[in-house]
This record gives sequence, C-alpha cells and structure tokens, in this order.
Amino acid sequence: EVDVPEDHPRYQSLVTRHRIEAGVEKGITSMQGLIAEGRGEAFDYLLGEETIPSADRAARAAAAHFLLGDHPVISVNGNVAALVPEEVVELAEVTGADIEVNLFGRTEERVRAIADHLREHGAGEVKGLTADARIPGLSHERAKVDADGIYDADVVLVPLEDGDRAEALGEMGKKEVVVDLNPLSRSAQVATVPIIDNILRALPNVMRHARDLSGASRTELEAIVAEFDREAALDAAEQRLREGAVADDE
Ligand code: ATP
Ligand code: MG
Repeated sequence: EVDVPEDHPRYQSLVTRHRIEAGVEKGITSMQGLIAEGRGEAFDYLLGEETIPSADRAARAAAAHFLLGDHPVISVNGNVAALVPEEVVELAEVTGADIEVNLFGRTEERVRAIADHLREHGAGEVKGLTADARIPGLSHERAKVDADGIYDADVVLVPLEDGDRAEALGEMGKKEVVVDLNPLSRSAQVATVPIIDNILRALPNVMRHARDLSGASRTELEAIVAEFDREAALDAAEQRLREGAVADDE
C-alpha cells in the first residue's frame, strides 16, 4: 500500500500512519483521528508493541461475551475503518455481530464514506445511517445510534471510543468491550472488558479466541466471563507502562 522498506525498524508504525493518512484523504478518518493515532502510538511504544498476557486474557473474555450475546454489535469509527476494515468484517462473520458506524464528530458524509469503505472490504449490511434512536444522557449529535443496532445491542465492541459515550452505553446496561492502548482513559476504566492493546493486534486476537471457543458450551463461556478480572487487567497494563515487563509476565 505504501513504499515503506520492510526492514525499517519502525515498519509497523509507519504503515499504520500511512493507513491513517490515507483514511483522512479518503474522507473516512477525521483530523482528530490523527491526534488519537499519535497518542496511541506513544502508549504502544511503552507497552513494547506487543500483546501483554493480561490483554490476551481480555481478548478471550471479549470473545466469550460476543459468543454469549443475543445481539453483539461492533462499533466502527474513522480510525478503526482505516486500520482494520477486513478484521471488522471477519469478526462480525465469526461471531454473528452487526457492524455500526458510530462517530464522535458525526457527519452524514463521513458515515456514508465509512460504510462504503467497509462494504469494499466485504461487509454486508452496515448500520449507523438510520440513526433513529438516542443514547440517553448525551448531547444530540453524539447520542445518535440505530434502533436495531447499538441501541438494541446487549454486547458492544467499542474500539478507541471516547470516555463519555463509553460511560453512557454502560449505563444502558450493555456489556462493553473497549480496545484502547491507554489503561487510564475513561473508556478503558468503564469497560466490562478493557483490552489494552493496539486494535491491529487486538481484533485478530479476539477472532482467534472466538474461533477457538466456537464449540464451547454456554457454561464454559460463562466461566471465562466470570473469571475475567477487569481491575487486574487495568493494573497489569498500567504496571507494564510504568515499569516495563515485570509483574504481568507470569
Ligand atoms: P479519555 O478517554 O481519557 O477521555 P480521550 O478519549 O479524549 O481520553 P483520545 O485521544 O480522544 O482520548 O482517544 C484516543 C484513544 O485511542 C487514546 O486513548 C489512544 O491511546 C487510543 N488509540 C489510538 N490508536 C489506537 C490503536 N491503534 N489501538 C488502540 N487504541 C488506540
Ligand atoms: Mg478515550
């Protein structure tokens, strides 16, 4: 997609930046999205740019939630669409989840561009354009969701979501899986399952666990969900950021 030499020590990070740039050029990623990318990169650098063990456990719990859910939905914003469109489509297929475009700075044009982009990557139905329901407790534009999508969902995957909306969705009683590289961000703090990892690694990892658990019984899935400790996951990630690889590498 871009001319970055594969042996460059910052190869992955450069490719990621180019994808976000291309997203901006294509009208799917916002200028705010560029800032979010920079912020994420800094945390990823400190995490060692790898999936730490606690994030892997979170990914497994997330997969179990998705398989147990009656109506799981993957919420997609401009960064997610630019970075992992194929992975979103594949995860939706494996878990039977809906895909809904949901933007912090919502414009009809950008919602449409993202939906088209996802369809180019194999998505069937993409929700988010109807916007006929509201999340209680948020201002008008930011509250818009589809009545038969996020509004109706019992489990929502909200990657790189802003803290306010993550909190409001939680108050609606939904199980929330948040992917965010910053364990201190409000979105991660309010999540049922915070996955402190790069979305580029987290989505394939959730998918791997979902495939692995596809034959599991409800009892087994419920046990995985019950055993997951969100506070421990947040603490382990924070410790990794502050002190490097120590406590979490058991
Ligand atoms: P808070 O949640 O504390 O209110 P915020 O939502 O205002 O913070 P933003 O910079 O708007 O913070 O949100 C971007 C978030 O997305 C950051 O926490 C950043 O670490 C995270 N992020 C950016 N890129 C990625 C990525 N590729 N994978 C996972 N998380 C990412
Ligand atoms: Mg946030």
